[in-house]
Amino acid sequence: MSHTCNNFLMHCMDFRVHKDIKALMEQNGWMGDTDLVSLAGSAKAIVSPESQAVALRQIEISKTLHSMKVVHLMAHTDCGAYGGKAAFADEQAEYEKLTGDLKQARDIVKNKWPDLEVKLSLAHIDETDEHHPKITFEDIA
Ligand SMILES: [Zn+2]
Repeated sequence: MSHTCNNFLMHCMDFRVHKDIKALMEQNGWMGDTDLVSLAGSAKAIVSPESQAVALRQIEISKTLHSMKVVHLMAHTDCGAYGGKAAFADEQAEYEKLTGDLKQARDIVKNKWPDLEVKLSLAHIDETDEHHPKITFEDIA
């Protein structure tokens, strides 16, 4: 018996984003069709030399074992793996770093597996209401 799935999603371990990621997955019909990996910093784990092998190994296993076709890499604002939003001069600097790492991670994955489709997104965390953070997802081209 073979078991396959179409998607692979790597997101950050941060608990604040998980409920909304689950909702997004349900909305997109990815539930039951996605290998799911949670690593601190997500794309940062792919672009960082010390964690790259571990991160890429997850993609390799998903591809080999489940014939996965689409890799979704998701970053989020105020990510602790980067030192949070306080580590950046302003929102623009944070945005450029996060999206830059996503694009670099995509290049690394595409270079290794040209047949995989790679999609990028950024989860914006709005904590104006600290008890109910609002998450919005942005597709990154
Ligand atoms: Zn994070």
